[in-house]
Amino acid sequence: IFSGPISFLKSAPQLQFLPPAKAPEIAFAGRSNVGKSSLINALTNRNGLARTSNTPGRTQELNFFDVGDPLIFRICDMPGYGFAKAPPKVVQKWRYLINDYLRGRAVLKRVFVLIDSRHGIKPVDEEIMEMLDKAAVSYHIVMTKADKVKQEALAATVAQVAEIAKKHPAAHPEMIITSSEKKDGIDALRMAVLDAVQL
Ligand code: GDP
Repeated sequence: IFSGPISFLKSAPQLQFLPPAKAPEIAFAGRSNVGKSSLINALTNRNGLARTSNTPGRTQELNFFDVGDPLIFRICDMPGYGFAKAPPKVVQKWRYLINDYLRGRAVLKRVFVLIDSRHGIKPVDEEIMEMLDKAAVSYHIVMTKADKVKQEALAATVAQVAEIAKKHPAAHPEMIITSSEKKDGIDALRMAVLDAVQL
């Protein structure tokens, strides 16, 4: 599946621009710079499918990708959050967009919440985890950039994340540890994606 056709479908800056819900969907969420674009590119084995540099105009949009032709499932790249200098209006707009998407998208099977292995779970991450719990959307935590930390530090962060995840009813009990750079954990992520869309 991941070596077959995958293409960018469209960006949705507002809910009315969502593509018709024609296939199961999975989504990727995470703080800006968490490594989300790199991970989507590693997952789909393509360079530059998801944009690795944060293009300011696109950061507030949901970006959709079609997997398979004919369509098998869709990937939604959710706008990165947690910009240090984001104006409150922008944050509020993000909150409405994400909340509406999470609550209204019946085809959304699972969200992969990306956490930087160097930083662990931050308050903004917990905010989206709470949104997911309330919307009853199941989610899987994915640690990114694991190559950037030493084994011991990684183990400590993983323990912190596991402890927090326990308190979140919609969080999957296990997490996936990845490095897009070293391609570690990418097969595990693929399995989890296929599992989420029931393939
Ligand atoms: P996004 O803003 O979440 O889409 O993050 P990007 O994918 O653009 O990555 C942000 C930065 O982290 C870029 O400089 C990437 O090269 C780097 N990066 C992403 N994933 C990894 C990884 O697995 N290992 C390392 N060492 N760097 C990474």
